[in-house]
Amino acid sequence: MPIRVLDISVAARIAAGEVIERPASVVKELIENSIDAGATQVKVETRGGGVELIRVVDNGWGIPSEELALAFQRHSTSKIERVEDLTSVRTLGFRGEALPSIAAVSQVIMVSRPAGELAGSYIEIAGGEVLQEGTRGAPLGTTVTVRDLFYNVPARRKFLRSEDTEAAHIYHLICQYALAYPGLRFTLVSSGRMAFQSAGSGQLLEVLGQVYGLEVAKSMLEVSGGAAGAAERGTSATVWGYVSQPAVHRATRGHLSFFVNHRWVQSRMLAYAVEEAYRTMLPSGRHPLCALNILVPPEELDVNVHPAKSEVKFLRDRQVFAEVQKAVRGCLVAGAPIPLVTAPASVPVNNRPLLLVKKASVAGTVRVPGPELVSLDSKAPGMVTSKLPPLRVLGQVAQTYIIAEAPEGMYLIDQHTAHERVLYERIRGEQARTGVSSQLLLEPVTLELNPRQAPALSAHLDELSRLGFSIEPFGDRTYLLRAVPAVLFKGDFKLALGELLEQLVQGQGSPEDWLDKAAITMACHGAVKAGQALTAAEMRELVEQLEKTDSPRTCAHGRPTMLHLSAEQLEKEFGRR
Ligand code: ADP
Ligand code: MG
Repeated sequence: MPIRVLDISVAARIAAGEVIERPASVVKELIENSIDAGATQVKVETRGGGVELIRVVDNGWGIPSEELALAFQRHSTSKIERVEDLTSVRTLGFRGEALPSIAAVSQVIMVSRPAGELAGSYIEIAGGEVLQEGTRGAPLGTTVTVRDLFYNVPARRKFLRSEDTEAAHIYHLICQYALAYPGLRFTLVSSGRMAFQSAGSGQLLEVLGQVYGLEVAKSMLEVSGGAAGAAERGTSATVWGYVSQPAVHRATRGHLSFFVNHRWVQSRMLAYAVEEAYRTMLPSGRHPLCALNILVPPEELDVNVHPAKSEVKFLRDRQVFAEVQKAVRGCLVAGAPIPLVTAPASVPVNNRPLLLVKKASVAGTVRVPGPELVSLDSKAPGMVTSKLPPLRVLGQVAQTYIIAEAPEGMYLIDQHTAHERVLYERIRGEQARTGVSSQLLLEPVTLELNPRQAPALSAHLDELSRLGFSIEPFGDRTYLLRAVPAVLFKGDFKLALGELLEQLVQGQGSPEDWLDKAAITMACHGAVKAGQALTAAEMRELVEQLEKTDSPRTCAHGRPTMLHLSAEQLEKEFGRR
């Protein structure tokens, strides 16, 4: 084929593909325009996962009638003028590409009335062609209605996921913008149902409650990197927001939200900075939650590195990393006590000596760094085998640890992690054989799922039933839970199911990965908790079960189930040797 310049409508559709990947991209661009227009209320309505219809109504300052058609021309924007302006962008938009891109691949009607105009003006465009223009009565602000997305791009339409999945993406997006702008009132109506609404009170914590539930929000810790002393620290970045306590964690990174200069961004660097701050505080494979605002001078930020503007580049990324990590770490250390004896993170779990004893015991909550930990491993060769010696239970300490003895010395067993190990191996065994045994609930429990979870549940009812959950649809996003895995019967099965759904939403990896992850989650929620009083018989039973496991020394998350103080060590400490 000879080289030729593409027809303008073909080129427009190709270009649109960069900006508009799926219905949620349309919603993103439209609500960003509303925010840039100073709106205090943004209402989003969708049908058919956004493919059939997306309507965004705002009360912003609108577009003058004579500029309405211009707004749909490529590279037309009211937000920047010269290339230098790119170094000081304070708006979410600046590329002048969103409206023409949306109009190239759908049917759009925009109605807008700025203050001072008596009537609204409207424009109707389909596939980039203006079909109609005129005036009509309209409230102040702008309403954009997008229908039949990708009707003229079959390739893209084919790649869309199910209606529910697309709706879930939109729901997630609205939650993120509500977190980024707590002062704005966002409403999402999905297929006629109110899916989300933020109060617009300006309180980030309130929005966190609406997104993650009150319990989680109440337990979050406030982070403030503060501008004070920033100059001395050689940084111009400030950090503010909330992070979860180390006791609250999730199986995926899907709950880390970052807003850089009020722009919701995806950033591995920021996620890493936060996770580094939690180092050794979270079980392996678990992730914290956060909603963090990072402010940097606009000239130190390149916002023009991604067509959908969802990534940014920091001029001084190392300082930003350090500032975020420090702010989060400081808040965790102040807000949550850290265990006195901790295992060094770098030691591989499976070869780890059973014995980790702190040399000199100090009262208070001081973290003991790795090198101070003493291992008696080399002096006690018998201890590296995975099997346990026969243990005699003596009692319980702090309703959390079982104290036991064997000829080799004294053992402190963490009742939760030990039970977790027992349940994990039981579940894995059942999975390999017949399926996880299930127990009927006396009363079915009603589950109200959010638009992200519901499709995951309905798509994976079979997998969940093999895990021992018997669940029936009960209209819309409501389900009835009739039976639960036997190991969870006394545990927190709702929380466990919530986490399993989250893992399904995030993608499950190979079937084997999923079974293993599910077993870990179920074991964690089925196990006795710290702080629970146990009878002597219960403790004996638990220790006996632990002795029978294949890897009794760590839980499924890799945390130790026990500490060992050997007879030699005791003698040495007491000066008998
Ligand atoms: P950009 O946001 O990058 O400037 P868009 O194509 O998204 O480009 O929008 C083009 C222009 O249309 C904007 O610069 C703005 O002036 C105007 N506009 C779009 N949506 C709205 C809205 N909801 N309220 C007011 N003005 C709007
Ligand atoms: Mg825009």
